[in-house]
Amino acid sequence: MYINGEWLEALGGERFEVTNPATGAVIGDAPNGGASDAQAAVEAAAAAFGSWSSTTAYERSDLLYKAWQLMTERSEDLAQLMTSEQGKPLKASRAEVKYGADFLRWYAEEAKRIAGEVLASGRADQRFIVLKQPVGVVAAVTPWNYPISMLTRKMGPALAAGCTIVLKPAEATPLCAMAVTQIFADAGFPPGTVNLVTARDPKPIGQVFTSHPVVAKLTFTGSTAVGRQLAGAAATNLKRVSVELGGHAPFIVFPDADPVRAAKGAAALKFLNSGQACISPNRLYVHSSGADAFTETMVERVSRVRAGNGAEDGVGVGPLVNEAAVAKVERQVEDAVAKGAGAPVGGHRLTDGAFADGHFFAPTVLTGVAEDMTIYREETFGPVAPIIGYDDVDAVVEMANDTNYGLAAYVYTQNLSTAFRAFEGLRFGIIGINDVNPTSAAAPFGGMGDSGLGREGGHEGIAEYLETKLGGFAI
Ligand code: ADP
Repeated sequence: MYINGEWLEALGGERFEVTNPATGAVIGDAPNGGASDAQAAVEAAAAAFGSWSSTTAYERSDLLYKAWQLMTERSEDLAQLMTSEQGKPLKASRAEVKYGADFLRWYAEEAKRIAGEVLASGRADQRFIVLKQPVGVVAAVTPWNYPISMLTRKMGPALAAGCTIVLKPAEATPLCAMAVTQIFADAGFPPGTVNLVTARDPKPIGQVFTSHPVVAKLTFTGSTAVGRQLAGAAATNLKRVSVELGGHAPFIVFPDADPVRAAKGAAALKFLNSGQACISPNRLYVHSSGADAFTETMVERVSRVRAGNGAEDGVGVGPLVNEAAVAKVERQVEDAVAKGAGAPVGGHRLTDGAFADGHFFAPTVLTGVAEDMTIYREETFGPVAPIIGYDDVDAVVEMANDTNYGLAAYVYTQNLSTAFRAFEGLRFGIIGINDVNPTSAAAPFGGMGDSGLGREGGHEGIAEYLETKLGGFAI
C-alpha cells in the first residue's frame, strides 16, 4: 500500500494472492489492508491537502503531464500486466492504457481552466465573486473490469482540482493499481496527495471512506447494489457522492439502417472485454426487415471470434473475472433457451484443454429473446448478444427505455429525424448514433436512474471535485 509517500505492508501484516483469470495461476500478491490502514491513508491525504490545494494550477498540470508521459512510456508493461491480471486481450489492454493515460493529459489541461465568475449585484456598492475550490479529501473505489482507466478517470480530475485522494482498487486487480500509483510517485506528486489501500475484503475500507470526518467526497465505480449502499452511507454523513454503476444498454437497429453494418458494430462492441463493461449492449432490438441479414452477420462474425488467454495472438475474447461471473452468464443463457431462445453460436461454458483452469464462456448469440427472459432485464457482464425482433418502429424507443438503468444506448439509422428523435427520447446518459465507441477523456461519461450520479471525463468531470464559494464585497 502507498500511504504518505511510502510503500507499506498492511498493519495486520497479511497479504492476499492475485490470480490470472485465464489460467488460475498466482501472479502476485498485495497487502491485505483493513480499517486502520484506510484511516491512516485518509489522514495522510488530509494532512497533504493544505499544501497541495495551494499549489498553482500550472504546478499541478506539470505533474499530471509528467504522469501521462510516464504512463505512455510504460504502456507496454502496463498492458502485459493488465492482460495477466484481468484477462482482456493484449490489444484491448493497450487501448485501455492509452485511454487511461488520456485522462491525465486531458486534466493536465483542464487544471488551468478552473475559473469562477464575477456577478452583478442589485446594490451599487456590492460585487459578487464566485470562486471554485477543491472539495478536499477524495475516497475512490474502483472495479476490476477496467483496472487502469477507472483509476485515472478519478485521479486526473481530483488532483487537477487540488484534491488529495485515497484509492481502494478491486480485490481482483490490485497489481494494476500499484503500477499506476508508482507512476504518480515517480512523477513527483508530494507525499499524501495520492494514497493506495489494497484489501481482500472491501467492507471495512468502505466503512472508513463513508464515515471518516475528513473525507469530503466518495467516488465509486462498480455494481449498482454496492454503489447504492456506499452512496447511502456517504450521504448520511453529508459527503459528496459520484457513482458510476451498472447498465443494460439497448442497441436499436431501425429499418432504414444497413443491418450488416449494424451487426458488425454490435459484434465488435458486445465482445469487448468479454462483455464485462457497463456500456456493453444487453438488448439488441432489430427490426424484422433487417433481422435475417443482421443475425447472419452476427453469427458469422461471432463464430470466428477466438476465445482464450488474452496474451495469445489472435484471441478476441478473454476469460470472465471469476467462477461466479461464468455461473451468472450460464444461468441467463439457460433461462433464455428454456423459454424458447435460439443459440446459433456458443451457449455454453468452455472447459476443455487450455480452458480447464480459467473462467471461460463461449462467445454466444441468442435469437428470439423476449421480455419474460432474465437476460431481458438483468445485466449480463458476459459474452452474450441477445437479439430481440420488433416491428413497431414507434414503440421501440419506449421498449428500450423500459429499464431502471440509464447508462448507454446505441442507435443505427440513416435517417436524421429518426436519429434525433431517438437521441432525445432515450433516457440514457450516453448515446452512440451509428457509433459503437461514444467515449473519450474529453466527453462526459455517466448514467441516469440506477446507473448512477455524476459525470466523469470532459469539463464536467472536474466540476465533481470543486466546491463553489461566493464572496460578497461591499466597496
Ligand atoms: P463487481 O460486482 O463488478 O465486482 P462491486 O460493486 O462488487 O462490482 O465492486 C466494485 C468495487 O467495489 C470493488 O473495488 C470492490 O472491492 C468494492 N466493494 C464491493 N463491496 C464493497 C463494500 N461493501 N464496501 C466498499 N467497497 C466495496
